[in-house]
Amino acid sequence: MERRDAVIVGGGPAGSTLARALSAAGAAVTVLDKRVFPRDKTCAGWITPAVIRSLELDLDDYRQGRVLQPMHGFSVARMGAAPVRAGHGAAPVSYGIRRCEFDHYLLARSGAQLRAGAAVESLERAGNEWIVNGALRTPLLVGAGGHFCPVARSLGADLGRGESVVGAQEFEVRMSAAQAARSPVRGDTPQLYFCPDLAGYAWVVRKGDWLNVGIGRRGPHRLGEHFERFLAAMVRDGVLDESIARTRAGGHAYLLYPHARRPLIAEGALLIGDAAGLAYPESGEGIRPAVESALLAAEAIRACGGNYSRQSLSRYAQSIENRYGARNLQERDKTALPGRLKQLAAGLLMRSRWFTREIITRRWFLHEHVAPLAA
Ligand SMILES: Cc1cc2nc3c(=O)[nH]c(=O)nc-3n(C[C@H](O)[C@H](O)[C@H](O)COP(=O)(O)OP(=O)(O)OC[C@H]3O[C@@H](n4cnc5c(N)ncnc54)[C@H](O)[C@@H]3O)c2cc1C
Repeated sequence: MERRDAVIVGGGPAGSTLARALSAAGAAVTVLDKRVFPRDKTCAGWITPAVIRSLELDLDDYRQGRVLQPMHGFSVARMGAAPVRAGHGAAPVSYGIRRCEFDHYLLARSGAQLRAGAAVESLERAGNEWIVNGALRTPLLVGAGGHFCPVARSLGADLGRGESVVGAQEFEVRMSAAQAARSPVRGDTPQLYFCPDLAGYAWVVRKGDWLNVGIGRRGPHRLGEHFERFLAAMVRDGVLDESIARTRAGGHAYLLYPHARRPLIAEGALLIGDAAGLAYPESGEGIRPAVESALLAAEAIRACGGNYSRQSLSRYAQSIENRYGARNLQERDKTALPGRLKQLAAGLLMRSRWFTREIITRRWFLHEHVAPLAA
């Protein structure tokens, strides 16, 4: 049986970032992913400059043959109301990427051994080691397999039950030259549409000739109906071609940090990224927490000096709490206003350019007030 210093389950942004950090420090790392890369991932695909910094991404290299759409502002509306456009100036505040390209690029440069097309079928604990699929031995098992990560399951996460999930539907489609020419959607200005009940939002994001359209809501109840109503409104308002709105959508679920109940560590194991349930509560952005949790895990792993007891790994759990705060499992609403009044207030605020730019985009979506983590 082959022995590896670490086995990482999942080659998304969390897994590849940790694989790169550990490999650079000289560790023998294997990344196991059930899919063969390049693979699609349901995601709007926008990343902030903080992600680029933390990943040490060379944009000139990245944009060779890949989509990299600079974004300079946002258009924000409550569904049914007129959008407010907020510009953020000359420097890009976000970039649109395609996950099939982005994830493949990060994984390929990680320097780790890759076992693609290999789903995790068994995880056993033997002494101080884990045995993965009866074929790999390791003292350190990392769950980076996204929301349905098998490592999270084996550490006791109650996947799909007792978890307050965000349900999402989305499609990404390449526009024909004629569609691209007549589309009113601008690549530099993603469009966000908040649901009237404030339980989520929909988006229309253009990346070059690619159009990404989706919706995410807390609790997947009647998600399909919400999405269909949104698409019909976009066709009616001339934002989307009818043929584009008929594109088959994919669905996915994930957890927002304050509501996730997943353990972060166990004996010889830890969870990072969506497997740990780390997405930002206001925007659902999960790539930045996926990358950051991987960097925090790398630092904690280095400090363990080869002793991966739960107590030793607890410094990782502590660093996650230091960065993202304590989890709020009660999902308490901090505003004292009753539902309808809150919706009315939000409707009024979303008409304000100041509120849209300073609070919704700068604070909730771009997290500009939080300095990036160094790689
Ligand atoms: C519709 C939608 C839109 C989103 N838009 C954005 C956005 O614009 N910006 C943003 O920052 N975040 C966005 N997110 C969140 C973001 O996609 C995730 O937070 C991010 O992908 C988490 O990265 P990860 O590496 O933890 O997991 P993932 O990217 O999910 O990667 C997990 C990997 O594990 C593999 N895997 C799963 N099960 C197994 C198994 N049994 N064995 C082996 N391998 C396995 C998978 O194949 C996959 O490659 C969006 C999410 C959704 C659903």
